[in-house]
Amino acid sequence: MHLKKGLNFIGLSLILMIVLAACAKKETAAVISNQEASLSSIDFEYNGSIFNTLVSGNNINLSRVLPYGVTKATVKNIYLAENCTANIKAGDVVNVSNNTTSIVVKNTSSQKENSYQLQLTARNYISVVDKYGLLQTLGNKIVDKNKNPVSLAGNSFFWSNNGWGGENYYKSQVVSWLALDWGTSIVRAAMGVDDNGGYLSDKLGNVTKVKTIVDAALANGLYVIIDWHTESAYKYSDEAVTFFTEMATLYGKNDNVIYEIFNEPLDISWPKVLKPYAEKVITAIRKVDPDNLIIVGTPTWSQRVDLAAADPITISNNIAYTLHFYTVYHKQALRDVATAALKTGLPIFVTEWGPIGYTQNDPEAELWMEWCRTNMISHLAWSVNDKAEEWSIARPGTFNLTTWEDANLTESGKLERKFIRSWIK
Ligand code: MG
Repeated sequence: MHLKKGLNFIGLSLILMIVLAACAKKETAAVISNQEASLSSIDFEYNGSIFNTLVSGNNINLSRVLPYGVTKATVKNIYLAENCTANIKAGDVVNVSNNTTSIVVKNTSSQKENSYQLQLTARNYISVVDKYGLLQTLGNKIVDKNKNPVSLAGNSFFWSNNGWGGENYYKSQVVSWLALDWGTSIVRAAMGVDDNGGYLSDKLGNVTKVKTIVDAALANGLYVIIDWHTESAYKYSDEAVTFFTEMATLYGKNDNVIYEIFNEPLDISWPKVLKPYAEKVITAIRKVDPDNLIIVGTPTWSQRVDLAAADPITISNNIAYTLHFYTVYHKQALRDVATAALKTGLPIFVTEWGPIGYTQNDPEAELWMEWCRTNMISHLAWSVNDKAEEWSIARPGTFNLTTWEDANLTESGKLERKFIRSWIK
């Protein structure tokens, strides 16, 4: 015991000496860098969202573009080397234009000077819906109005059911924030049906929540999925017909809108139950809306796309099929099933996926995102909520805020935001 303590003391002394030596070295290095006139980064703020920059040589560019039509952004932070000053500071307003802005950095110690060219860029199209228009299936792809394949990335809201917690996020401000800060291009209103507090027990309340999300998506130029969120939709096909007829009548003329008629069927027969259900609801929608995309759930929690591929729906055009994956359970084996279904010509839409949770280190999520990008598959992360579970993007109370900081996000939220932000340039 004593010996150990003695060794620890010697060991600690050695470590201290090494640390001191390292600090001395670092100080020497810092003195050299002190002579330089440089900056490492600048952050800008627009409507509460922070836009980081990338510095490459003497060029500074935003890591993501500002929204369409934005003409000014405010300097939030500027990160200068030691002893440096610049002709720009936090709080200054910079114009967004085709011309660059010169930033001159001076080192007051060495008198060195360095000039950077800053370029702030806004999106050159109004919105994703303005850019892509009505989505259509073409072979195994979803294509835009010019028949080019489209892959969207966004967020699914949680079950809309009264009293479940996720309904607190059914707000237009949340949709606007996801559009601005996450660069989301598609959202999904997951309307609970048969479970407690769902559509069957409170039609008006749940339809109102769905309309809040759809109207906000229209205002922000996003795509929006209207989802009949149940595992037993075939038991309520008449109610589904009523609901989707109402939605198609209200929104069927908007390119933004996509109908998802059965969230996650259980292990139920595709030819005997699910396909007939889908055909009944599709027929009702097509009586009102001849052209918007309809997404159909597949057996076993929307994983058996192979069963739909073997017997696809032929009564209508513009039908895609649901694939859901959660990276803790679903890996290469499910990607292989989905890839085989794609090869038969089946268009697939990932209306839900979930990361492993509680960490940003999720290699399987990276593999799935790569698969989505390669195959031009759209995907929505489950879910916009603060429930204590691995798939929530937000920490409690976030719905009360008009802007969310990094500290308001879970690790899952940060990981998903990384993918979504980088999806559409
Ligand atoms: Mg239409």
